Amino acid sequence: VNLDRNDFEFGQQLGRGSFGVVFKVRRKNDGLTCVCKQIQLSNCKPRARDEANREVSLLKRVSRGCNYIVQYVGSFLEGESLHILMEYCEKGDLCQFLKARDRSLEERAVWKYLLQIGLGLKWLHQNRILHRDIKTMNVFLKTNDDVRLGDLGVARVLSNTSFAHTFVGTPYYLSPEICEERPYNELSDVWAFGCVVYEMCTLRHPFEAKNQAALLIKILRGQFAPIDASYSQELRDLIEGCMQRELPKRTKLSTMFSRPVVQSWATHLA
Ligand code: ADP
Ligand code: MG
Repeated sequence: VNLDRNDFEFGQQLGRGSFGVVFKVRRKNDGLTCVCKQIQLSNCKPRARDEANREVSLLKRVSRGCNYIVQYVGSFLEGESLHILMEYCEKGDLCQFLKARDRSLEERAVWKYLLQIGLGLKWLHQNRILHRDIKTMNVFLKTNDDVRLGDLGVARVLSNTSFAHTFVGTPYYLSPEICEERPYNELSDVWAFGCVVYEMCTLRHPFEAKNQAALLIKILRGQFAPIDASYSQELRDLIEGCMQRELPKRTKLSTMFSRPVVQSWATHLA
C-alpha cells in the first residue's frame, strides 16, 4: 500500500535534526500516533531516492523483529522530501532525559536500559546492519520506561553525507579506529554503546574537550575517569570492555550477552 501525506494528520513539531524536521502525526485510518521525519533529498546523490526507499523497507522488516528498536511504520516521497514514519516515543530521547536530572541513574536502571539498547543493537548486527550513530540522542523512552534504539540506518541512507554528519557538532562517540579513518565495524557501535552506558552513570561524556582536535587526542589515548564507586565492579568492567582502544580486546555483543552477570540481570529485570 502506498502511503501519502493525506493518510496522516500533522501535529506539533517535535524537533529539528541534522537531516530534517520531526513532527508528531496521527494515522487517520486507525488513530495510531507516530512521528514523521522529513528528509530533504535534494542535496543528496541522484540515486538517494531509490536507496532511501529500499533502506526504509529493510528497516521496517528488521524493526518488527525486535522490541527495543523504534518501529518503522512506512515512508513516502513528496517532491524531494522523504517522509519516514516511525513509532512515537512519548518520553523523548535519553539525552534530554539525562539533562533534566541532577543525579545519575541508579544501578538497576542502568542495567535495564543497557540491556534493552544492547539487545536492539545485537539484533541489528545479526541482520548485518551497523547502526553508525549510537548516542543518547538516538535512544528513546516509552511511557512504560522501556527504551528504543532509534535513527538506525539513516546515516546509511544518506551515505554520501554520512561522513559530514559524523562531524556535525562534537563527535563524542567516535571510536579510536574512526579517528584514525579505519573502517567502521560492529565494534565501533559497541564503543559508542559504551559511551552511552558511561553517560547514564556519570551524566558526562567519557571524553570531553574544548575542540575537536583535543577530543580526538583524548579518544585515541583512551583514558577516562572511572564511574562512581557506588556502582558494581561488573558494570565498570562492562564499560571498560566496550571502550577498549584495540579492536581485538573490545567486547563483542554476543560475548557480553553470554556473561553470567548480564544473563542474571536480564532474568531479574524481565
Ligand atoms: P537527528 O536528525 O539530529 O538525529 P532526530 O531527527 O533524531 O535528530 O530528532 C529530532 C527531534 O525529534 C529530537 O528532539 C528527538 O527527541 C525527536 N524525535 C525523533 N524521533 C522521535 C520518536 N520516535 N519519538 C519521539 N521523539 C522523537
Ligand atoms: Mg537522531
